[in-house]
Amino acid sequence: GEIEPMTQSSPGPSPSLDEVRERYRIERAKRIRPDGVAQFKELTGDLAEFDRDPFADPSFTRAPVDEEHEVLVVGGGFAGMLTAINLKAHGVEDIRIIDKAGDFGGTWYWNRYPGCMCDVESYTYLPLLEETGYMPTEKYASASEIFSYCQLMGRHYDLYPHALFHTEVEEARWDDADGRWHVTTDRGDTFRARFFVTAGGILAKAKLPGIPGIEGFAGDAFHTSRWNYDVTGGGPTERMDKLADKRVGIIGTGATAVQVVPRLANAAKEVYVFQRTPSAVGERNNGPTDVEWYKNQPPGWQQERIRNFTQAVTGAKPEKNLVGDGWTRYMWEDTHVKAGSPEEAEALERSDFESMEELRRRVDTIVEDPETAEKLKPWYGKHCKRMCFHDDYLPAFNKPNVHLVDTDGRGVEQITAGGVIADGEEIPVDILVFASGYEVTTELASRLGFDPVGRGGQRLSERWSDGPHSLHGILSAGFPNMCMIGIVQAGFGTNFLHFLAESAKHVAWIIATCEDEGVATIEAAPDAEEEWLAVLREQAMLIAGYSASCTPGYYNSELSRDEKTARNLVYTGSILDYAGFLEQWRDEGDFPGTTVTKA
Ligand code: NDP
Repeated sequence: GEIEPMTQSSPGPSPSLDEVRERYRIERAKRIRPDGVAQFKELTGDLAEFDRDPFADPSFTRAPVDEEHEVLVVGGGFAGMLTAINLKAHGVEDIRIIDKAGDFGGTWYWNRYPGCMCDVESYTYLPLLEETGYMPTEKYASASEIFSYCQLMGRHYDLYPHALFHTEVEEARWDDADGRWHVTTDRGDTFRARFFVTAGGILAKAKLPGIPGIEGFAGDAFHTSRWNYDVTGGGPTERMDKLADKRVGIIGTGATAVQVVPRLANAAKEVYVFQRTPSAVGERNNGPTDVEWYKNQPPGWQQERIRNFTQAVTGAKPEKNLVGDGWTRYMWEDTHVKAGSPEEAEALERSDFESMEELRRRVDTIVEDPETAEKLKPWYGKHCKRMCFHDDYLPAFNKPNVHLVDTDGRGVEQITAGGVIADGEEIPVDILVFASGYEVTTELASRLGFDPVGRGGQRLSERWSDGPHSLHGILSAGFPNMCMIGIVQAGFGTNFLHFLAESAKHVAWIIATCEDEGVATIEAAPDAEEEWLAVLREQAMLIAGYSASCTPGYYNSELSRDEKTARNLVYTGSILDYAGFLEQWRDEGDFPGTTVTKA
């Protein structure tokens, strides 16, 4: 059934806005930590084993290559694939794609945890459905279906011959003498390329919680993006048959954990869910694709649906709500727009509160134990954390083998060889699952895994020592012919694929147009970078107060601030507006705001 957008308050007694603000303030205060983003641990050193690829064939080997290409793309996820597909459409065929994973898919290669699926509907999320002729089996596709679709795209667009997998960049250096990027890898390869595209992912660098003792846990432990099915048995869709006599602890209750917990609940002897901040969980309502409906969509339907969804979740209120799901219901009213009057601001705040109140009430209708239900209620605004949708997460807490260990915002205290200490009590566990998320707002060079060396031997981390500098998040001064696709100073929104597809289209246009027009080098002009920063700042100002009033999380960089934060922004307006900036720039035709040299 279609879900109507939420446009007015539901009946029932409602606390005053002052009371709500006070409750939100108290919950936020419990969670503020002086170490902010520094609280997390990298998967290196003693924790390097956490980053091992459990899906790779350990015997994989190949001889090093020495190659020259027009374009080298780092990353074979949707962004890298779409860049290559767009380049081919422009007639640029000399492309090499490298990725540390063993196949295409990016996040959908790595994330194979049980229950993994995409929370944006498949008809809107999966790119190029009309072009490939593929029909998703369900409204919300499983991770394995999405990974298979990435492989299908790889075959359909003949991308496999371009790809080298299990390959990590060690160094990427611009050489002014030959006007090429020189790239070396951990497999001993050397590449030279005129254009260098970084499409290394947004949620690609897993992080572990900074809990004392984490290195000393004696049982099996892994991050959700490196799920160890040798330990749990089963598979992404098959029941985990090795857990029947196991006590499993899971740390984290974000979008990932919401999908994992129901599957652990069905398989493990005991499940302990260690919670610092609860997620808001709405109804999912998944179902098989209506084949007749799908087959009868008119040409151009997918682009219209993608636009319509983004409008519906950014306050643009399209005439028709095509997707009609939980996202469009709760995000219909956008708190992110500057209200025209104090009355409007109050109405938006009230609507935000009512959305969250509806989700809090939902907990009471599902979770039988009132104390557990109370602890599962999220007390923050609807834009503070990624909202979740799942029909089995809350019911899992009614099972006798599932235990919520709520830490009242503090997080667990310590990990011992045999368990987890929370609230002074040690809970023994055999297996620990870290659903602790990813680095999102840390330095790009650290997340990419290499630090590009630009003109004059200057590293990206040096040039960006006071924070990022870019035009649209894509071009940067001092880094000729390097195009970045990622979150830094670029777009962001509910449907990541909408943003990635627009970025890939733009990057391919830049490269193809430069080739057509005999442009040897292109990079951002420093003054244009400052103008773009001003655009980002103007948007960020609109939501600064809102964001600062949220509980910490990756949306607000864990509320940490340093001198770099002021430049480390994303475009917080609608993806459609971000795409509009890119389109307008392309339409101007003469690469405004860049420095260009001709061959
Ligand atoms: P998140 O960063 O959203 O969640 C990490 C969790 O770990 C939080 O609950 C956090 O608590 C908790 N945590 C961190 N440190 C500690 C600690 N010391 N003690 C206890 N708990 C701790 O990561 P996810 O992997 O869940 O999701 C990341 C993003 O991935 C999502 O926002 C979404 O964009 C994407 N995603 C998308 C899906 C989709 O369907 N499209 C599915 C899954 C993920 P706290 O909140 O208090 O910091």
